[in-house]
Amino acid sequence: MSELMRRVDAVEPEIRAIWQQLHQNPERGMALPNTAKLIEAELLAKTGVEVHRVGEAGIWAVLRGGKPGGDDGVLMLRGDMDALPIQEATDLPYASRSPGVMHACGHDVHASSLLGAVRVLEQYRDQIPGEIWFFFQPGEEVLQGAKSFLADPHIDFSRVRACAGCHVLGFTEVGKVSVRYGSHLASLDALHFTVRGRGAHASTPNETVDAMVVAAELIMKLQVLLSREVNPSDMANLTLGYIRAGEPDRVGWVADRVELGAGMRTVNPATRTRLLERIQAICDGLSLATRAEIDFSYENQCPALWNTPALCDVAVRAVEHTLGAQAVELAPSPALGAEDFAFYTQHFPGVFLSIGCRTPGRDSIPAHTPEFYTDPGTIRTCIAAYAAFALEYFGVALGDTEGGSDTI
Ligand SMILES: [Zn+2]
Ligand SMILES: [Zn+2]
Repeated sequence: MSELMRRVDAVEPEIRAIWQQLHQNPERGMALPNTAKLIEAELLAKTGVEVHRVGEAGIWAVLRGGKPGGDDGVLMLRGDMDALPIQEATDLPYASRSPGVMHACGHDVHASSLLGAVRVLEQYRDQIPGEIWFFFQPGEEVLQGAKSFLADPHIDFSRVRACAGCHVLGFTEVGKVSVRYGSHLASLDALHFTVRGRGAHASTPNETVDAMVVAAELIMKLQVLLSREVNPSDMANLTLGYIRAGEPDRVGWVADRVELGAGMRTVNPATRTRLLERIQAICDGLSLATRAEIDFSYENQCPALWNTPALCDVAVRAVEHTLGAQAVELAPSPALGAEDFAFYTQHFPGVFLSIGCRTPGRDSIPAHTPEFYTDPGTIRTCIAAYAAFALEYFGVALGDTEGGSDTI
């Protein structure tokens, strides 16, 4: 076993206890008073890193390496901390005690493991020619947390050379780390439509412009768009999220207004641009054909996440040198989830690693569901992935691999 894994294993029991404490006491959004207090107290009590608050609940910890010869560059490691508005339906002894709130996306694993990585990496301080910044981030699920760090005037982002983050993955078995080269996760746009027709009594449809019929046609055209305008080897998804029209007690009346909205996910920026242009054209054409007015607007809520290949190489080497070559999986395609880590990779080279959390022999359970779980062994892999990535990035020798061989 490598020296690094011995150090990971030494902190793992305490980190596992913190993970269960976080899991039991989930908090949502940008204000995570108890979560932030716990992480901050652990950093102050058990480590010598500098600790700063970012906004209400963000924590920025700074580890200054002691090895001369660096270029003053910074590697940023991020762990998110927020939970979801879901009622937990597991029978875990450390299941959520907060009604209607649950760590159903594994951010309890990321935050606690990043804390473990601080403790491990501090032991290598003298061998690190640079700085490591640890971002304990709130508000990922509401896509506000990364933006709040990037907007903080006290953080000099011009010094950041690279960034890395981890996320648990229920489809992959615990002990594995999945790396995706290049395009990894989707951009998310919220699309809003308002269809304005002309209402009247249903007995005289010729006097009306039925906004509901126009909206139905619009919905079907949007679905056809995906199958006809997107290269089959590319990925895109458009899901209707809400529709509002009419009144239950007015079935004899033609609705004059329908509001609807959809989420659009794409991994390829050119496909995104093309689809947005085509959607506007569909609205214009449908409006001409039906005499309804159709307003279309959109807002990008999260950019696509691109993993820098050179940093994927660093991650693969890091995992091979610590957990062994069998622990590395290469993801064959992007996924259509959106992740606010992408706001960082818009500015710096970055890599976002997927940490297997499925118990062998158990079915995978998707994140954001009441039955979601993470195998307790995930903590060990996640601490190792953060720490090994940082050491490999800074060229610190990682020594023997898991199992005692260093001949990979
Ligand atoms: Zn999530
Ligand atoms: Zn998540």
